[in-house]
Amino acid sequence: MNSVSQISHKVWCCCLVVLTVWVISPVKMANALPKTPSLQVLVNRHYPLDPTTFIPPDLVVPHTSLASSMNDTEMELRKPAAEALTRMFAAASKDDINLMLSSGYRSYIDQALLYDDLIASNSSLTDAVAPPGTSEHQTGLAADIVLQSGFCAAQDCFGMTRASLWLVNNAHRYGFITRYPLGKQAITGYEYEPWHYRYVGVSLASRLFSSGQVLEEYYRAQGTGDN
Ligand SMILES: [Zn+2]
Repeated sequence: MNSVSQISHKVWCCCLVVLTVWVISPVKMANALPKTPSLQVLVNRHYPLDPTTFIPPDLVVPHTSLASSMNDTEMELRKPAAEALTRMFAAASKDDINLMLSSGYRSYIDQALLYDDLIASNSSLTDAVAPPGTSEHQTGLAADIVLQSGFCAAQDCFGMTRASLWLVNNAHRYGFITRYPLGKQAITGYEYEPWHYRYVGVSLASRLFSSGQVLEEYYRAQGTGDN
């Protein structure tokens, strides 16, 4: 092989390597699963918090409408989520939609008490309640959102309200996603919860809004309901 053909052979090989890496890398490298305490962490029965007793280091009470007193730790969220929630509620109020935080952070101990109480009252609820260490509320990034009027609070009919429609179409602009949408129960393992929103940051929230994916699909991870 003369020097010219050696060079062109090397260039060709180099292009092939670059092309191969370019084609394969999005599949291999995309959507790596972030761990606690990432704002993009996936939490479900298969992916508990690590450690399971994790307490977020940056919990604050958002300066917005709250369903309980400021001393109630359930009104706390991690700082980025709290600030985004405040901005989102302010934007909604400009459209005459008055929202309120009904439930935010829930500690491992509170989730354990809730889980034990519900299971004791009705063992068929085992699949409907997250065991301690696997609730999104323990991340400090999940917010149950209700109307200040209380209309359809934590009920499916909230999904039929103008407020819910506004949230579905705008929450991603503030970094929130609707986490347990209708039609995805088999993937998320959770019943439809139109009031439950999860902060993941604007970039990921916008991507999920555009694709219609839930977190389990995005990370190609195992959901709660598929075991
Ligand atoms: Zn919730």
